[in-house]
Amino acid sequence: MGLKNLLEELSRVSPNPEAEIDTILKLEFSSSLVQAKVSGLSEHEIGKLEKIVHERVSSGRPVQYILGKAIFWERIFYVNESVLIPRVETEILAEKTLEIAKEIRARRILDVGTGSGIIAITLKEELPDVKIFATDVSEKALRVAHRNAQLLNAGVTFIQCDMLSCFGENTFDIIVSNPPYVGESDPFEEYRKFEPHIALYGGEKGYEFSLKLVRQAQNRLKKRGYVIMEVNPFNVEYFVESINLKHKIYKDFNGLKRVLVIENG
Ligand code: GLN
Repeated sequence: MGLKNLLEELSRVSPNPEAEIDTILKLEFSSSLVQAKVSGLSEHEIGKLEKIVHERVSSGRPVQYILGKAIFWERIFYVNESVLIPRVETEILAEKTLEIAKEIRARRILDVGTGSGIIAITLKEELPDVKIFATDVSEKALRVAHRNAQLLNAGVTFIQCDMLSCFGENTFDIIVSNPPYVGESDPFEEYRKFEPHIALYGGEKGYEFSLKLVRQAQNRLKKRGYVIMEVNPFNVEYFVESINLKHKIYKDFNGLKRVLVIENG
């Protein structure tokens, strides 16, 4: 079976088969679809691709869960069904956080609901002198995050904690989060089917969790500290209306409102 047939087979379950083959090639062979199209694939590579594509088509599971790996910020992270699969939009959240952390010379940053640890670990890799803390309420997710920190040799302090309940006042320069923000009546998306409900759904409207997070962050932040969070482009206007704080919103590469920055005045 050649590349063309594999793409065809994959299109039975995938809205973007080319992107998925590209992801598999990157994760398994440090290659890419462009490279495969130019130089072709070895028999070994085709054999392995076939196996993965068959499993993807028959089970419906995303390729990242099948392979136990995903890419974020050009690094490979371990993932399983206890954590969300990293989204490329979330790189904007990490980028904005890095920018602000450098600008204010942040000393202590907290990542709330770290999941696989991608944000906390990326921040630690890019800002080795900053103390990075990360929480999650899920023990299973924290196991994944620990494993990633070990794999990438990143000194992040992980704490099992419900939101910010385990921290005292004036503790952080920045609180960053990609919280669950999907609402109960948001359109159903097939790609979320295999992911943990707790990591996706933020309440009936979707922003209830985020609202609670912003409230809890106020006194845990140092003066002039920042909350930086990923938001749902389809409910962010209602969310910011209900927090009534000075803020900025940044868009992703699809022009969708994606990152909210609040300065603690
Ligand atoms: N952006 C993700 C999605 O649309 C949701 C991630 C989240 O809830 N934080 O599926």
